[in-house]
Amino acid sequence: MGREDHQLHIFFFPFMARGHVIPMIDMAKLFTMRGCKSTLIATPHDEPTFLKSIAKPQDSGFDIDVVTVTLPLKEVGLPEDCDNLDKLTTEEMRRQFTRAIMMLDRQLKLLIEKLAPDCLISDMFLPWTNEIAVECGIPRLVFHGTSAFSLAGSECVRLYEPHKKVLCDSEPFVIPNFPGEITLSTMQLPDWVKEENESTELFTEVRESEKRSFGVVMNSFYELEPAYAEHYSTFLGRRSWFIGPLSLCNKETEDKAHRGNQTSIDQHDCLKWLDSKQPNSVIYICFGSMADFNAAQLHEIAVGLEASGQQFIWVVKKDPSVEEGKEEWLPDGYESRILNKGLIIRGWAPQVLILDHEAIGGFVTHCGWNSILEAVTASVPLVTWPIAAEQFYNEKQVNQVLKIGVDIGVKRWVRLSGDSVKSERVEEAVKRVLVGEEAVEMRKRTKALAEMARGAVEEGGSSWSDLGALLQELRLQRLARHKKI
Ligand code: UDP
Repeated sequence: MGREDHQLHIFFFPFMARGHVIPMIDMAKLFTMRGCKSTLIATPHDEPTFLKSIAKPQDSGFDIDVVTVTLPLKEVGLPEDCDNLDKLTTEEMRRQFTRAIMMLDRQLKLLIEKLAPDCLISDMFLPWTNEIAVECGIPRLVFHGTSAFSLAGSECVRLYEPHKKVLCDSEPFVIPNFPGEITLSTMQLPDWVKEENESTELFTEVRESEKRSFGVVMNSFYELEPAYAEHYSTFLGRRSWFIGPLSLCNKETEDKAHRGNQTSIDQHDCLKWLDSKQPNSVIYICFGSMADFNAAQLHEIAVGLEASGQQFIWVVKKDPSVEEGKEEWLPDGYESRILNKGLIIRGWAPQVLILDHEAIGGFVTHCGWNSILEAVTASVPLVTWPIAAEQFYNEKQVNQVLKIGVDIGVKRWVRLSGDSVKSERVEEAVKRVLVGEEAVEMRKRTKALAEMARGAVEEGGSSWSDLGALLQELRLQRLARHKKI
């Protein structure tokens, strides 16, 4: 048989939010580098960003492309440009958005019928895609974009309800039937776990669809969380393949700089700034693509950073002075005082490029899983500041299991805006992660993990082998399908 007969064709369908799109594009690149044909599904608005991210592998001759599906935004009452989660500002808009996504079923089915992929890898938030894949006779794999730790941990909390056996919301409980004596409190759980709401329904669908799917692909590597990887497969009974860290498929500066969005700083200027600093002397502060702090919280961060006396790169997603009509989020004369010490990036930063620079010695993060993995692979210890989603689980994994971070002391899960944190906590945590004996120890542990991460994706490593095993299974699935026909 010729090569074409063997080449697997995979569809990658991400959920329309940057934290979900970025690892999915990396995954499509990884599969194509292993000989597959990769087709990414994007909205017309996101298509140029997708194309930019895959331009280099395309130029190098890899079989990777983008097709589009159009969200019926008008039909659900949303403005034309609201085709990404980070543009939705209210709960109602998010509900409308979910409805629009569910109406993509026909378009997906037509694409599968036309392009005949061998497998669909789709985001956890697209549970309905499983039925389409089944109808079309191809396997669907789920992509969660988080760790085995948080998936198994949250399932144990859902099943055993330890939060219903404590006296108050702040009382810590140990997650039952879960390795490592991990403690959480009710305040740190997502709202849909504590009371039934629309998200509870969605997560039930996600779970049911996962059970019916072919399996789960994980952006993680076995050595990072062996006990939890085992727990996930034995206790939850899910077939899973650990193929990460996905961001490691970006080897060159250009690849790292063009992930997910147009950066708000020239990558060369950013690197020049970092080049002028000593190793491990700069803290990087960024809260992912979704977090939405108000002016008061940004002010606290500004004051804390300055008081710490440390050098920093701070990413501020939006300028609240524009929206809130006031400019007091930065103290008077702040930017001239921090001129050579601090760099504020307003908008989107080339995060992986920054983290990979030797000048970066710590990362204040909201504990999004991509950010944590990117820090681990860059060997950068963390200051954990979880906001919502599964981020409190991720914080526990970083601080209690991996011991590569210090917590800033957030007590409460609050969607998008997070619990408030005072400047003194910022100052203290930044100093702790950058200077002193504790910082040195954390750096050593992170370095060991970074080496394991790189080993995992190299030929013969655990992630490399897991992906090989998955591809082999998909080939067998295809053979079986073709025999039936
Ligand atoms: N990111 C980036 N620049 C930014 C903010 C975020 O490149 O200014 C990337 C980051 O590297 C990561 C993703 O966006 O890959 C954010 O994912 P994460 O899971 O950390 O958080 P989320 O945005 O999903 O809350």
